[in-house]
Amino acid sequence: MVEVAESVAGVRASVDRARGEGRAVGLVPTMGALHDGHVRLIERCREEAGFVVVSIFVNPTQFGPNEDYTRYPRTFEADLARCRGAGAALVFAPTPEVIYPSGATSTFVEVPGLSEVLEGASRPGHFRGVATVVLKLFEIVRPDLAIFGQKDYQQQLVIRRMVNDLHVPVRIVTEPTVREADGLAMSSRNRYLDPAQRQTALGLFRALAEARRAVAGGETSADRVRQILRETLESSEGVRLDYAEVADGKTLEPIDRLGGGIRAVALVAAWVGSTRLIDNLALTE
Ligand code: AMP
Repeated sequence: MVEVAESVAGVRASVDRARGEGRAVGLVPTMGALHDGHVRLIERCREEAGFVVVSIFVNPTQFGPNEDYTRYPRTFEADLARCRGAGAALVFAPTPEVIYPSGATSTFVEVPGLSEVLEGASRPGHFRGVATVVLKLFEIVRPDLAIFGQKDYQQQLVIRRMVNDLHVPVRIVTEPTVREADGLAMSSRNRYLDPAQRQTALGLFRALAEARRAVAGGETSADRVRQILRETLESSEGVRLDYAEVADGKTLEPIDRLGGGIRAVALVAAWVGSTRLIDNLALTE
């Protein structure tokens, strides 16, 4: 069975009980509409912690005014079954009022530097919302560790920076991106795609794979790799490019040359119809 809590006191009572039994506590923050990528995060968490908490909360403050907050898929019963199957002990499913008791005058967390580029440039305020809700979840659950997906590469960097800067005693684990058989990164937003768009969406992975192939073949010019990303993405009909970047995997600063011990990551965002998708791939280890 998986227990469900909607209040801060309810979560803390369960977590305190588990701690009393000597179990380590792990947290997997999600927005629900769970897929096999989320399941992998929960399973990984179960390997590291005796008591796994999954939070399901569509966080309003990380959505822009014209984004998909109201239509974001909400599949709570199916999510519970997946949590149970993957070994979660507790699902925390709060309302916005529980998470934001002061409403719009809530205290916020800013992580400058990493938050304004890439996703942050396209979605102003997004990472302020993310950092804020994650710190709140950390304070409510007080986990020993928390698991995030590499799928949201910039997000896990923002969280790591926040935890480091604020001395938050939570160990952050990043789990590799889980993909469909053809390479498409799993995403709750893939549910928005019709069958034709689902095929078109593969353009993101195809572009990343082309970029990695070029680097493996000796390409060292980051501009040339950016061009490969753009050209591959734009050759897929129905894809509208938002950004295609080659960046330092630690700082997200654009890089000039590949190699020299820098971990380089290719990051892309694109629209397929009215659905905005992101993906990324390490170019060098
Ligand atoms: P979300 O529900 O989309 O906010 O995602 C919750 C967590 O699952 C985040 O840490 C995501 O990075 C992670 N996640 C989402 N999709 C995937 C995926 N395809 N593979 C691995 N982790 C993922």
